[in-house]
Amino acid sequence: IGANLARAVARFPDREALVDVPSGRRWTYAEFGAAVDELARALLASGVERGDRVGIWAVNCPEWVLVQYATARIGAIMVNINPAYRAHELAYVLNQAGVSLLVASPAHKTSDYRALVEQVRGECPRLRETFYIGDASWEELVARAAPADRTAELTAREQSLSCDDPVNIQYTSGTTGFPKGATLSHHNILNNGYFVGEMIAYTEQDRICLPVPFYHCFGMVMGNLAATSHGACIVIPAPSFDPAATLQAVQQERCTSLYGVPTMFIAELNLPGFATYDLSSLRTGIMAGSPCPVEVMKRVVAEMNMAEVSICYGMTETSPVSTQTRRDDDLERRTGTVGRVMPHVEIKVVDPVSGVTLPRGEAGELCTRGYSVMLGYWNEPEKTAEAVDAGRWMHTGDLAVMREDGYAQIVGRIKDMIIRGGENVYPREIEEFLYGHPKIADVQVVGVPDEKYGEEILACVIPRDAADPPTYEEITAHCRDRLAHYKIPRRLEILDAFPMTVSGKVRKVELRERYGTARG
Ligand code: ATP
Ligand code: MG
Repeated sequence: IGANLARAVARFPDREALVDVPSGRRWTYAEFGAAVDELARALLASGVERGDRVGIWAVNCPEWVLVQYATARIGAIMVNINPAYRAHELAYVLNQAGVSLLVASPAHKTSDYRALVEQVRGECPRLRETFYIGDASWEELVARAAPADRTAELTAREQSLSCDDPVNIQYTSGTTGFPKGATLSHHNILNNGYFVGEMIAYTEQDRICLPVPFYHCFGMVMGNLAATSHGACIVIPAPSFDPAATLQAVQQERCTSLYGVPTMFIAELNLPGFATYDLSSLRTGIMAGSPCPVEVMKRVVAEMNMAEVSICYGMTETSPVSTQTRRDDDLERRTGTVGRVMPHVEIKVVDPVSGVTLPRGEAGELCTRGYSVMLGYWNEPEKTAEAVDAGRWMHTGDLAVMREDGYAQIVGRIKDMIIRGGENVYPREIEEFLYGHPKIADVQVVGVPDEKYGEEILACVIPRDAADPPTYEEITAHCRDRLAHYKIPRRLEILDAFPMTVSGKVRKVELRERYGTARG
């Protein structure tokens, strides 16, 4: 990763590498390379050894990106910590990963990170030092680079590294349970970021607006590494997702690319005043992370000027992207599939029980193999062995169909499948259908326990107009004769928001818990 950044610095010294819209700070590649160099030497001066874990617990900001590249240059393993964590989760991760040095945001919105770190410090014996971004302690850290010339030491350290060294422990989103720490190498994530950028044809002309959190692979690999491996510019619209700030940043910085999970694009498209933003600079972007509704994709293409928007499918454990739509795909493939397999990656669809590879067109568990499969879950060999088999295939837990044309469709997570009266029901299909209802802005379908049918179908709806939500009768009338009777939701809950992970995924598990017992 260090060598790859050095190449971008040499090729594009005067082009912008990083722009922080909230603070107005900007770095060219030459300046960015120098800032990373300085921080890398400061970390060396702080005694960070090859393989030591350096935690980053921060909302999106330029320093996050500096820490990402500086730790990679010195062979440290960066541990991205979820900004939504509370004290006990923070302590768990710091201890599980053995973090010795931590960089944190002082505070953001309702989170006082400094107070939380102070609260757990006594329980985390390996944690030696904590530095807070934007205050005196950060200045103190950076200043450690100066007293001695550590350039030779830095060069020697870089030369001792291997591309198969772990560079990052990245926790999964925690959508289905407790997050797992995927250990990823330079080779894993740099290649993935590079190929994601290749599929979009990034060049040094591109400016990528990143409202997705850096703590997750969507931001730090598909965003930052895709950008720097092509000389493109990273644009930070806000510390955490804000639809107005995102559209404002695209307009002001003339961004060519915009990322988001589906719920982010939905929020942007439904923002009052959406039509007043000038999005004419956009050409592409990525929607990924959870099922991308066809209707939403079509609106992104038509109304956000993103004719080349691509869908990616992947998971933290596979660095992350396994399939992606291509630049010249037609609208059907672009909106209705997750694309085809990435270069140098293999995928197959198997029967989840027997493991036998299924013919094209049949739904089964998607498995992935290639350079992108993680080294393993950090310090959890049993969990690694459950997920990655002896043939190095990663079992994703996702149901997919491989079409005749080689494009894959994700049916849903195995864990989310509803079994109603013996029939397999895939929430995704019902959600796609309900998006077509004019009173529905966003919808999640989950299975809840039912005495008669084993499971019953619940639709959780965010209405377009809170004052005029759809009624249960309207929903069933909409479904009648157009969905098989056993797929029609039997319960409706109207919500103003879904329980979300910080990476922007809906925690269906929480909806199931919330509504699983109370009758609607
Ligand atoms: P956890 O593993 O902790 O429960 P998670 O699986 O959400 O959380 P991530 O690694 O962030 O953690 O997400 C990977 C998952 O996201 C995939 O396994 C898949 O279920 C879903 N996903 C990613 N991209 C897409 C997509 N384009 N369409 C549908 N689902 C997607
Ligand atoms: Mg997962």
